[in-house]
Amino acid sequence: MQMTSAEIREAFLAFFADKGHQRVPSASLIPGNDPTLLFTNAGMVPFKDVFLGDEHRDYNRATSAQRCLRAGGKHNDLENVGYTARHHTFFEMLGNFSFGDYFKREAIQYAWEFLTGVLKLPKEKLWVTVFTEDDEAYNIWANEIGVPTDRISRIGEKDNFWAMGDTGPCGPCSEIFFDHGDDVWGGPPGTPEEDGDRYIEIWNLVFMQYNRQADGTLQPLPKPSVDTGMGLERIAAVMQHVHSNYEIDLFQALIHDAAKIIGTDELNNKSLRVIADHIRSCSFLIADGVQPSNEGRGYVLRRIIRRAVRHGSMLGAKGTFFYKLVASLVAQMGAAYPELKAKQQVIEQALQREEEQFGKTLERGLSILNDALAELKGDVLPGELVFKLYDTYGFPMDLTADMAREKGLTIDEAGFQQAMDAQRQRAQQASNFGVDYNERLKSAQKSKFLGYTDVSATAEVVELFVDGE
Ligand code: ATP
Ligand code: MG
Ligand code: MG
Ligand code: MG
Repeated sequence: MQMTSAEIREAFLAFFADKGHQRVPSASLIPGNDPTLLFTNAGMVPFKDVFLGDEHRDYNRATSAQRCLRAGGKHNDLENVGYTARHHTFFEMLGNFSFGDYFKREAIQYAWEFLTGVLKLPKEKLWVTVFTEDDEAYNIWANEIGVPTDRISRIGEKDNFWAMGDTGPCGPCSEIFFDHGDDVWGGPPGTPEEDGDRYIEIWNLVFMQYNRQADGTLQPLPKPSVDTGMGLERIAAVMQHVHSNYEIDLFQALIHDAAKIIGTDELNNKSLRVIADHIRSCSFLIADGVQPSNEGRGYVLRRIIRRAVRHGSMLGAKGTFFYKLVASLVAQMGAAYPELKAKQQVIEQALQREEEQFGKTLERGLSILNDALAELKGDVLPGELVFKLYDTYGFPMDLTADMAREKGLTIDEAGFQQAMDAQRQRAQQASNFGVDYNERLKSAQKSKFLGYTDVSATAEVVELFVDGE
């Protein structure tokens, strides 16, 4: 059976609605209920207070397709984009939730029924993990569902025990993997080769069972809850018989349109995948009210945009291209997300502005980097160089690190920090002793504006003037 992403999303929500779940629309990428969280990074985030018992709703089962962002913060997949078949910065998480209603047995039965009954996935391609100590889940999978025990593995705390924080709700997880076949490298969950892309995690079932106390003890919750999450793009890859998320309908459309806008025919180029990923995170962030800036969420957005612009330049893009891809994204996702369509202009303008700004310094920064690479001894880019690219040419540190990685190099992060601290001190001294604005004006007139750069990830915006450029 072949299904589009849109059909899978709808099939999932309809399946759980039919099982008495309230359909809840996706919340914003900016968590409304948790100032400590950078972005909504899972389907359960908007329900956090319900799980904690601080908020009551008139339903105790819910289902949603939640937009999620994992770039920065506790979950950061930015460095995976372009390298794995399964990670995005922005993705949709399909979820079903029980607030003190059903527990392990139903959660497992529902998941199995949806995968093998509705989507009709071959059972022998599904692998399951449970938490080492969770005999209850193990027995449900082995004895009630009938998964052969050689396809069930017991996994430790790192991957199979979930916690909301240092204290509070927590519990074991059970994850479902799909075997994409032996033409892809990788091993089953729990083996050293599991990080390959052959066995791909598609669904995580979290059983909130305990309340962790400040002293570390686990107190059983009076009403255990369920939180599950399945990546829409990953299950779409399975349903469309492709192995990488980037080969599914939605991404192929974005990749083709990006190639056309940029004027390349290298459809398998990694840079096109990165751009297709980044247009989603950037557009949805702006739709949800974030603007590129030098701090917090705005700086995450700026970093992603600049990465995309650099990838466009690698593909030979002439002038701005990134913002032109918004129309394509709206065509793909506007029906499911009317807020995206409504904000199309705002998104395009913000992206175009940022692209033009960075475009002014990008080529110059790249040529400085290339000169340095030609002379580099060893395999670490000096902190001073990383800082110069950052400070004068607007290259966020992670962008330079990514470029270094492509060449098998790393960057001297400590050296970069040192250079940054020194710069900060100089700035502080300058402000302590006052600034002669007449002098600044004079030098500004005879120099060329190089665009805004970042003094630090969390600092104010400064204008940089460089003499004689
Ligand atoms: P992985 O181990 O592959 O990084 P995860 O264990 O970090 O995934 P969870 O936190 O369990 O993922 O999230 C639930 C589901 O959301 C995953 O099973 C997967 O289908 C999907 N998912 C997680 N991260 C991403 C991502 N970066 N891009 C696309 N889908 C994702
Ligand atoms: Mg992960
Ligand atoms: Mg995992
Ligand atoms: Mg997981």
